[in-house]
Amino acid sequence: MARKQIFYTAGPAELYQKFEEYLQEAVDNQLGSISHRSGQFKKIYQHTDEQLRTLLNIPAENAIMFTGSASEIWERIILNCVELESFHLVNGSFSKKFYQYAAALGRHAHKMEKPMGEGFTYGEIEVPEYAELIATTQNETSSGVQMREADIHKLKRSNSDKLIAVDMVSSAPIPDLDFKLVDTAFFSVQKSFGLPAGLGVWIANEACLEKANKLKNEKGLSIGAHHTLPELWSQSKEYQTPATPNVMEIFLLGKVAEDMNKTGIDAIRKETDRKAKLIYNFFENKQGYSVSVQKEALRSRTVAVIDTEAPSSEIINVLKEKNLIVGAGYGPKKLSQIRISNFVANSSEQIELLLAEMDKI
Ligand SMILES: *Cc1c(COP(=O)(O)O)cnc(C)c1O
Repeated sequence: MARKQIFYTAGPAELYQKFEEYLQEAVDNQLGSISHRSGQFKKIYQHTDEQLRTLLNIPAENAIMFTGSASEIWERIILNCVELESFHLVNGSFSKKFYQYAAALGRHAHKMEKPMGEGFTYGEIEVPEYAELIATTQNETSSGVQMREADIHKLKRSNSDKLIAVDMVSSAPIPDLDFKLVDTAFFSVQKSFGLPAGLGVWIANEACLEKANKLKNEKGLSIGAHHTLPELWSQSKEYQTPATPNVMEIFLLGKVAEDMNKTGIDAIRKETDRKAKLIYNFFENKQGYSVSVQKEALRSRTVAVIDTEAPSSEIINVLKEKNLIVGAGYGPKKLSQIRISNFVANSSEQIELLLAEMDKI
């Protein structure tokens, strides 16, 4: 069999090394057929919940809930946590979509917008007085810009009357978020957890739950029909879900998170930083390429976006011949950028291999 392709794409992405082994375990345990009301399922949910709490340092009072995708959670957050006004930091396609979801749901959505490649620091952000929720994107996958954890934390501290939401879809578990400050955060599994798409993970605190209950019970407003926060919350406390969930993926996520805990999140974060440095150093010194994000501190640790002098499609095709799959730029940047994932599943050897091959082009 020909050598398999290696994916350096920002999601779906390279699969976790032991994915096949754990998938086989799921098949052997007939997880596609067990009842989601069974004790066996509750144990799977509980295990995944516990491993994620350890990995991301999530307090006991927060709920960890499962959805179909991360973008579904954009809608849930707006429906459950915003009555009238939300505020969005927009600097690329994903943060913009979160903003557009709020507007589509009839909320007065405010935004502070920056061009692709730029990011936000605490001092420059002015939050509209009546915004109930601040929506941040920790890792803007379209442009390779991160928002530093410290800036997110300061933003909450100085706006403690508002909820803060963090899209960490393409960076979790790398950001070291303080869940005593962050009210809600979310991710999906096809990015840095190295699993097939089909599961969203929603973390929320009691302030979010109170807000949803207030909108529904005191104000008599709709918080949606499908998977409302109070419903997901109360079910999650029993390691249950309102509807039939993706049992297999919940199982796989628990296995991957358990392995990550065995390695230790500090070691994983350090290794991610080390690999990111390799990538950025390489392109800073390579003719024909430049790192798209100017401010070093705002460069993503998990998705590197590189400007290319030649059309990126040419570079991507040369690499594809070698079974190395690299992503194009996003939207308008399709032909002038490449995007390289630096997820947990992208091993040091894989990153070195890619850079060595690119050096030959
Ligand atoms: C991929 C991505 C999403 C959407 O995730 P889905 O699982 O496809 O819904 C949202 N935000 C960011 C930053 C992403 O990278």
